[in-house]
Amino acid sequence: MIDLTAPLLEWYGKNKRALPWRESRDAYRVWVSEIMLQQTRIQAVMGYYERFMTAFPTVEALAAAPEEALLKLWEGLGYYSRARNLHKCAKEVVSRYGGRFPADVKALRALPGIGDYTAGAIASIAFDLPAAAVDGNVLRVHARLTADSTPVSDTSHRKAVARELAELYPAGHCGDFTSALMELGETVCLPGAPRCAACPLQTLCEANARGETELYPVMGEKKPRRIEARNVLLLLRGNRIALRKRPEKGLLAGLWEFPDGEVPENAEFCGEAVHIFTHVEWHMKGYILRDAPEGDYRWFTREERQALTLPTAFRFYTAIADSLGF
Ligand code: SF4
Repeated sequence: MIDLTAPLLEWYGKNKRALPWRESRDAYRVWVSEIMLQQTRIQAVMGYYERFMTAFPTVEALAAAPEEALLKLWEGLGYYSRARNLHKCAKEVVSRYGGRFPADVKALRALPGIGDYTAGAIASIAFDLPAAAVDGNVLRVHARLTADSTPVSDTSHRKAVARELAELYPAGHCGDFTSALMELGETVCLPGAPRCAACPLQTLCEANARGETELYPVMGEKKPRRIEARNVLLLLRGNRIALRKRPEKGLLAGLWEFPDGEVPENAEFCGEAVHIFTHVEWHMKGYILRDAPEGDYRWFTREERQALTLPTAFRFYTAIADSLGF
């Protein structure tokens, strides 16, 4: 692959955005920010990151925290398995490595919730190792630079790109090289219309030279999302509302939810909502039932319910419960 390190690093030095997690190369901070940024926009992560770091300034503090406190801080970020794995991983870093992340890609990769991408990001940014962190942004930049039409959804392609990029990593600047590649994808080599005139790699870019930037990246087949219809039952009884826990495995594992099920007689329709997950769409219809029978639920007062973590998928119905005083 063409050597793009010098122009890219020079551009990054002048153009990088000031982001809170860039203030330090501490592995703990790099790790938390990378996990939060997975499938979530930078703007949305900022506030969460700051609050998280205030609550858990060290990996030891995170490992010692009760899971419910961690989930509460995560509320709204979605993909809760990330938070659970974060907790597991913190415990392992403390018990196995004395609170210091290992400076080794394989050892990082073996920790809970850390895949190739996150291991590469921590290894390069925190430890200056030549390990690439290949996400969608980097795949797009690579596909355009080299006019490569291999579908980017292909896992073996992702690994091949990581190997190719690893060869270019400049000693002493590995972290900046990882961040610069991502920054270019996020701010210049944009998914829709790349800003080639502002790109430091324009003269090196094959897709640009051919006038074919719109042909890359090739995305590959995407499976359509499964649609699930569900009823959201706001069952009210005295000053309490019914909730139950989701199964320990699968989507939104172990989190609280409003019960689903047959619509009870006398229930009053309160609105429809849609929530889109990565592979599933929930099409929800909500119903309110006052004086509900006790059933197989846990009952919570408004204060108790508000202290729990209810997934964002239910936001529409949580707001209704709030407005009803439950
Ligand atoms: S020249 Fe355009 S297409 Fe090529 S890497 Fe730069 S922004 Fe992307």
